[in-house]
Amino acid sequence: MSQNVFSLDDTRHKLRRILEKAKQRVPLSRSDVKWILDLSEPDTIEDLFKAARKLREKYFDNRVFLYGFLYFSTYCGNSCEFCLYRKNNSAAVRYRKSLVQIIESSRCLSESGIHLIDLTMGEDPEIFQAGEQGFDRLLQTIRSVKQNTNLPLMLSAGVLPEAVLRELPEAGAIWYACYQETHNRALYQKLRTRQDYDIRINSKRRAKELGLLIEEGLLVGVGESINDITDSIFVMDELKADQVRVMSFVPQKGTPMEHFPPPNSLKELLVIALMRLVFPECLIPASLDVGGHAQLHRKLAAGANVVTSLIPPSQGLAGVAQCDLDIEDGKRTTAGIQSVLKKSGLEPASSQEYHSWLNQRLESSPPVSDQTLF
Ligand code: SF4
Repeated sequence: MSQNVFSLDDTRHKLRRILEKAKQRVPLSRSDVKWILDLSEPDTIEDLFKAARKLREKYFDNRVFLYGFLYFSTYCGNSCEFCLYRKNNSAAVRYRKSLVQIIESSRCLSESGIHLIDLTMGEDPEIFQAGEQGFDRLLQTIRSVKQNTNLPLMLSAGVLPEAVLRELPEAGAIWYACYQETHNRALYQKLRTRQDYDIRINSKRRAKELGLLIEEGLLVGVGESINDITDSIFVMDELKADQVRVMSFVPQKGTPMEHFPPPNSLKELLVIALMRLVFPECLIPASLDVGGHAQLHRKLAAGANVVTSLIPPSQGLAGVAQCDLDIEDGKRTTAGIQSVLKKSGLEPASSQEYHSWLNQRLESSPPVSDQTLF
């Protein structure tokens, strides 16, 4: 018993030392990061979450940002092992929204008081195989949503050619999201079949150089080790990602990973808290896409400061990981999450507060290209 007590004291002492480093903005070492990821003792984990919330409060007060999610085409030419929407999976619901429908859903999101619209699609062959014409259509879609909502926009549409990335700011997008999901190259090759690791990661580097804000993400529960997650944290740091997200893998019907065991949800929470320690001033989403409304409070309690994947009901729109969870009953709307925000002691930021975070972030990393893009 005395040994246990001694170990617990030791653990607490070590956690305090790491938290103090994070508070002072001293970079955490690889062994610090791995140690946090290996935590299992409930009281110590609670102390970690508490520290993550304190850091969030230091940089964001009690404000959170709300992101609408508009998955406008569920077609994709790729075959990622983990994804419901992989090419040829007949279990996936496929749709391709028209421009009129996209604008209607965008207006609906805008009127609900969100801060940003995340325009998402798979690598839809209708766009990707039509060359310049296809990407012109994509850019036109972004322009139309911008004109109709005047909201900040994020584009999550796979790996885009540099020429298209260059056009994004003018079209109205401020963010480019493209998740690697793992930074272990061997695991990446298994998960993102026949997709080049370097092309994907370099698209984010280039987007950042062109003056876009970037979001990088990882999946937990796909066969990665603690070392791999540690690598992801350091790659995110090297990329200077502005928003960093972690999501738990959810087994998808009709995919090669359909029977892969889902991870313990604690893993995602530990990574959220760790991200807050390493990237205190960055945006860290609590995604409604995994665990929905019921799990939102835990993600916010671990230090997240963005609620993502808000989806308006009655629009025939899907999510990604749990494609219909909580959508039609309105639980994934700004009104639907108010009770969770209140319980978490948080409130939605004003749009001015979101704009001022964006401006400050853009000013701290101006484009390195010869063009002034903003
Ligand atoms: S993860 Fe993205 S690129 Fe991969 S199959 Fe799914 S939609 Fe396509």
